[in-house]
Amino acid sequence: MNFTERQQRIVHIVEEHQPITGTEIADILGYSKSTIRSDLSLLTHVNMLSAKPKVGYVISPTKSENTVNTQLFNTKVKDIKSKAVCVKEDLSLHDAIIQIFTKDAGTIFVTDDKGFLSGVVSRKDFLKSILGNVDIHHVPVSVIMTRMPNIITTTDDESIVNAAKKIIHHKFDALPVVEEIQSNCYKITGRLSKTTLSKLFVQLTEI
Ligand code: ADP
Repeated sequence: MNFTERQQRIVHIVEEHQPITGTEIADILGYSKSTIRSDLSLLTHVNMLSAKPKVGYVISPTKSENTVNTQLFNTKVKDIKSKAVCVKEDLSLHDAIIQIFTKDAGTIFVTDDKGFLSGVVSRKDFLKSILGNVDIHHVPVSVIMTRMPNIITTTDDESIVNAAKKIIHHKFDALPVVEEIQSNCYKITGRLSKTTLSKLFVQLTEI
């Protein structure tokens, strides 16, 4: 459930001062009690707050835990995915490394001449090629990339919990978000990275 900014402020105030009366909450916010009455009744109705007679409002005992769970299971990859950095198979390692710096991405996705996902190159893949004295100006990314069909992907409608499990299980930094256009041909629509998942984790603690 998406709460308004004022409702979120009310929840924070209750977290800090509970138990707290409606009048005291209104005073802190600088509103009249009648202004926040509908917010308090909604927050109570969805069991975010509990109203204790003659005591005041408190956070519902199981609510913070439930909210995080519900949000995690309701969030799909499409809700949080970021822009993918894609390069063509014939791009030189040198130019691909430049993309890592200019686009600030750790993992680069590679596409074939039809624009479909054909490979993944990570930072360590680049480092390995440099240690191996590969001529980075002439060798293309296709030589060092991890290739299809060995690429682990996710889709817009996968729950982020499942996608995060894939990232943990395979120990990757990021997954390409794909759409299957025809059998085994995938268009890249974004990227799901550990950083994006960490940001969501922090956001969930904010309500
Ligand atoms: P790094 O090696 O920089 O720590 P990763 O752990 O993500 O980054 O990558 C480890 C190896 O797995 C690399 O060889 C990379 O090409 C490959 N790889 C990365 N992401 C995927 C993916 N989604 N599917 C398959 N292989 C991947």
